[in-house]
Amino acid sequence: MSERAWDRVAAKKLYAVDEWGRGFFDISDRGEVLVFPKREQTPDDPGISLMEIVSGLKDRGIAAPVLLRFPDILDARLKAMYSAFQNAMSAFGYQGSYRGVYPIKVNQQQQVIEEITSFGEDLGHGLEAGSKAELLAALTYLKNPGSLLICNGYKDQEFIDLALCGQKIGLYPMLVVETPREVSILIERSRAMGVRPHIGVRVKLTSKASGYWSDTGGDRSVFGLNTAQTMRVVDQLRSVGMLDCLELLHYHLGSQVPDIRDIRNSVLEACRTYAGLVKEGAGMKFLDLGGGLAVDYDGSKSSAVSSANYSLSEYCRDVVEVVQSVMDEHEIDHPVIVTEAGRATVAFYSVLLFNVLDVSKFDEDRCAELLPDDVEDLHTSTRNLNEVLKKLTPETIQESYNNAFYYRDELRELFKHGSISLRERSVAEALFWSIITQVAKICRTLEYVPEPLQELDASIADIYYGNFSVFQSLPDAWAIDQFFPIIPIHKHNEEPTRNAVISDITCDCDGRIDQFKIEQEITSTLRLHDWKPGDAYFLGAFLVGAYQETLGDLHNLLGDTNVVSIRLDDDGSYTLTSEIEGDSVSDVLSYVEYDPRAMIRTFREKAEAAVRSKLITSKERKSLISLFEVGMRGYTYHED
Ligand code: PLP
Repeated sequence: MSERAWDRVAAKKLYAVDEWGRGFFDISDRGEVLVFPKREQTPDDPGISLMEIVSGLKDRGIAAPVLLRFPDILDARLKAMYSAFQNAMSAFGYQGSYRGVYPIKVNQQQQVIEEITSFGEDLGHGLEAGSKAELLAALTYLKNPGSLLICNGYKDQEFIDLALCGQKIGLYPMLVVETPREVSILIERSRAMGVRPHIGVRVKLTSKASGYWSDTGGDRSVFGLNTAQTMRVVDQLRSVGMLDCLELLHYHLGSQVPDIRDIRNSVLEACRTYAGLVKEGAGMKFLDLGGGLAVDYDGSKSSAVSSANYSLSEYCRDVVEVVQSVMDEHEIDHPVIVTEAGRATVAFYSVLLFNVLDVSKFDEDRCAELLPDDVEDLHTSTRNLNEVLKKLTPETIQESYNNAFYYRDELRELFKHGSISLRERSVAEALFWSIITQVAKICRTLEYVPEPLQELDASIADIYYGNFSVFQSLPDAWAIDQFFPIIPIHKHNEEPTRNAVISDITCDCDGRIDQFKIEQEITSTLRLHDWKPGDAYFLGAFLVGAYQETLGDLHNLLGDTNVVSIRLDDDGSYTLTSEIEGDSVSDVLSYVEYDPRAMIRTFREKAEAAVRSKLITSKERKSLISLFEVGMRGYTYHED
């Protein structure tokens, strides 16, 4: 324990909660993580304790893992986006306006779309659809006829007909041309349906961004039109008297663009193209910057891939300033600025809570028990290993580290060839790990740690087994190493003393999380509280509202988790507004084409055969069948 008693202030600093939590998350005096869905921490707003939610859910029979959704966060994010653009526009005297759309692909869940369209109704927030299914969802849920319905993606005749249908019933679908081939179908279908369509063009910019998805942008991107193709579209529309229908210019630089300079550069290039289209006589009204507004997942405010070196207001000011200056230079009316911010809208909305099932402790003591008192009778390599341990000093760590590996590998070979016993091998391993542990301890005190030694902490960390699946609930952590803040949701009045990595329950070595934010660093281990069997210990993975839910897969047949929505009431209390039961075992089996009823039948027959063969009694058969049936109906995760 440090000199000062451990408290919420120390915990907040350790886990950098203020940096990534952005006012939505905090830690209470009781040491529990609080959520402030409206992001207004006033004395009247005590916040909602995640631990209190967990116990309320337990009373209701809703088990972890559970995904919590906070619709008020969506509301707060949309309002923040509109007010940041409005502030920037008033500050610069911008004459146009802002209209956002939410790209359905970022989190397609019905509840999300319903909430965004109702919170966004007064603001005029629209939707972006990239497929027929998303288009049908948008046509159903969009309420405000002034909101845009941006139709991106490759379109066939049916897609175009459906969008034009939307226009006939008073919506504002914008058909964004992604390939030259779409233009003829669009002209033909709008004539056939008697509609003058709203048309956009998606262009490839030469500007590229850094980040995970930089390949979606740039002139080699697979999406959008190059300048020659754009001109061909203009000529085609002009030739049929429809150039006035061309109202929008769209580009998308890629998702999670961490560097504001990339954003500025792309806006500048897009504005020049927009001005060129106005000059050609197109009926331009909207400049659509696509997505890319980044979320500062690691809270470092940097241009690292999991961060953002700008705030929402800086983003808006930069965009407005660049658009205004180019338009003024060309003496063009200021366009309606459109963004398709997905991640920045929904990331904060969901938190995954899971309990720790078990811990495998890297136990120095156990190694110490095996350390020999007397090495005289042991193999020379074991004796050498013992010497390395005895002579280890801060000055010799690198040499000791290299020698430890050398002798350990030699002893493993000797074991394979039968030259040393199993017991001597275990002594050698214990010596090896004692050296590594000592080296790691010394490294923690050094200012400069040699590169091969930098990851040592992770190799001697405890493994905390969490009741969740990385593949189902945090697929980007597995697929692209994306960072998500993960911290305990309680016990923050106790100092966490263990260094840990987190493993899920998929028995897959990729089902592991080993990137955490500790103070100002991204580290390979997380500080966690000591755990003993029977302890209720809950962790939260935060900022998981974007892209994770539908990208998740059924690895090991672990299915969707329980989902609960929590709304703030006017008096500061909260209500569970919706509860979606996670997949049962029979659900996931049927997704992969098993027939759970036929499986039960087969099991009954097998149990009957076992009775006939006198392996079990008929009474035992009854309880075995009931066990099988309960298992079929049960949650795919561990249950208490
Ligand atoms: N618009 C388009 C065309 C996209 O492809 C995407 C996602 O990649 C988005 C918007 C959303 O991007 P983000 O979530 O970074 O805001």
